Amino acid sequence: RLQVAGLTRAFGGRPVVDDVSLSVAAGQVTCLLGPSGCGKSTTLRMIAGVEQPDTGTIRIDGTEVCRPGLSLPPEARSVGLMFQDFALFPHLSVAQNVAFGLSGDKAAKAARVGELLERVNLAGYGDKHPHQLSGGEQQRVALARALAPRPRVMLMDEPFSGLDNRLRDGIRDATLDLLKEEGTAVLLVTHEPDEAMRMADEIALMRGGRIVQRGAPYNIYNAPVDKAAAAFFSDIN
Ligand code: ATP
Ligand code: MG
Repeated sequence: RLQVAGLTRAFGGRPVVDDVSLSVAAGQVTCLLGPSGCGKSTTLRMIAGVEQPDTGTIRIDGTEVCRPGLSLPPEARSVGLMFQDFALFPHLSVAQNVAFGLSGDKAAKAARVGELLERVNLAGYGDKHPHQLSGGEQQRVALARALAPRPRVMLMDEPFSGLDNRLRDGIRDATLDLLKEEGTAVLLVTHEPDEAMRMADEIALMRGGRIVQRGAPYNIYNAPVDKAAAAFFSDIN
C-alpha cells in the first residue's frame, strides 16, 4: 500500500508538484492522469526516491520512507520502476537483466528468473541478448526485471507508449494482471484519458501540479469536477 500526503516540490520558485496526496491499495491500480507538464513524472520520481520533495510524506506498507529530514534511498523503498525508456543492459543476457536487482544465492535467483520469464511468456529466452529481441519482447523483459525483487509498489511512467498499437493492449493488460496477482500497488502515469478509463481502479486527475479530482473512472467521467476536466475527457469515444 502506497500513501502520499502533502507532497510539494518547486523548481526556481515555481511549484511543479503542489500538495499532492494520494493512496493506492495493494493489488490496485491508480492512474495519475493529466496534461503534459502538470507534474506527473516529478511526482513519480519523488515517490521512487530519485527526486527530493520540499515537503510531504510517503509511506509504503505503513513504513515512512520519506518525510522532512528523512529520505530512504530508492533501493530501500520496495518500489519498482517502469519508464517509457526502459533501457535493458545491452551487454547482459535476458536472464542477467532480470536477475540484476536480486540478492541471495544463485539457485534461488535462477528459480525466480525462470518463474518470471515463464510469466511473461519468454521461457527459453534467458540466454539471448536484448538486441536479439523485438520491442515488445524487450518490454516484457523489463517488466520481469521490475517485478523480480517483489516490490510492494510499482511506479509506471507511460511505459506502454513506445509500443505499436497492436502489441500495446496485450502487453498492458498482461502486465497489470500480473501486478494485481502479486498484490502490488500500481501507480500508472498517463496523459491519455481512455487508457486511464480502461486500466484504473481509481483516477487521480492532475493539473498545474495539483490533484483536482480523485475517484472511480466511471464517476470522474460522469461527474467531472469542472469544465476543463470535462473537456479533457470529451474526446473519448
Ligand atoms: P509529460 O506528460 O510531458 O511527461 P509531466 O506531467 O510528467 O509531463 P513533469 O515532467 O513532472 O511533467 O514536469 C512538470 C514541470 O516541471 C514542467 O514544467 C517541467 O519543465 C518542470 N521540471 C521538471 N523537472 C525539472 C527540473 N529538474 N528543473 C526545472 N524544472 C523542472
Ligand atoms: Mg512525464
